[in-house]
Amino acid sequence: MFGAIDIGGSKLLAAVAGADRRPTSAERRTTPPEDPLGVLCDMLDAVRGGRSLDGIAIAVPGPFDRERGALTDPPNVPPAWKRVALAEELGGRYRCRVVVENDANCAALGEALHGAGSGLDTVVYYTVSTGVGAGIVNRGRLLTGRHDTEGGHQVLWPAWLGGPACRCGGAGCLEALVSGPSIARRFGVPAEALDDAAAWEDVGRWLGLAVTNAVALHDPDVVILGGGVCNSWDKFWPSLSKTVDRALRLQARPPIRQAALGDDRNLYGALALL
Ligand SMILES: [Zn+2]
Repeated sequence: MFGAIDIGGSKLLAAVAGADRRPTSAERRTTPPEDPLGVLCDMLDAVRGGRSLDGIAIAVPGPFDRERGALTDPPNVPPAWKRVALAEELGGRYRCRVVVENDANCAALGEALHGAGSGLDTVVYYTVSTGVGAGIVNRGRLLTGRHDTEGGHQVLWPAWLGGPACRCGGAGCLEALVSGPSIARRFGVPAEALDDAAAWEDVGRWLGLAVTNAVALHDPDVVILGGGVCNSWDKFWPSLSKTVDRALRLQARPPIRQAALGDDRNLYGALALL
């Protein structure tokens, strides 16, 4: 039996899985400000119900230390969670292998294997939520690069042309244009309450360029978008679609789909790493 954890800035998920790597008996909690290891062990113990674990997979917000399997200094988690050595601590306690991976990569792998990219070779996934991240999967394997890819920080509107500041210290990144907080900052209303056609056309345009760039770089069989902002899919889709048609010249347009798995997509992807 395998254990899986998804660490988010506001919520935690834990589940177990058998040989099919599909998460079951999930446990959900609010991310507490203190005692990260205590609460994670508590959740794992609740889902494993006394059974031993053959491996634990953990989805974490980036940036993180892949080699050590540790959190570093992600902007969205409480201070007590920073630099927690997850692999070392949980591996010692449960006496099993622990793998840690970026949550956007986990979501990409989950969607590629079990969701909207199932059965396809090359899958690009964008998560559009509090932050923006991307994951690339080729034939069931994540493309991780030398350290980490940062698809949410591809620059579409540089500072010298007036692009808005980004949380990463740069400007005009995809995340600075279409994440939930960026939409709220740019248009003065939270994304879920935004009902301005011109604003959504703008969001769709930037997402369309991000999709176009993904196609240029990876020639994927599908581009999948998920995350909270995609609850407004119908509002930005016409502009996204039109942008891809206008911008893409040399390549055929692949299907562009909304993510199919629910809240547990990071768990699906994490479990596939074991
Ligand atoms: Zn950025």
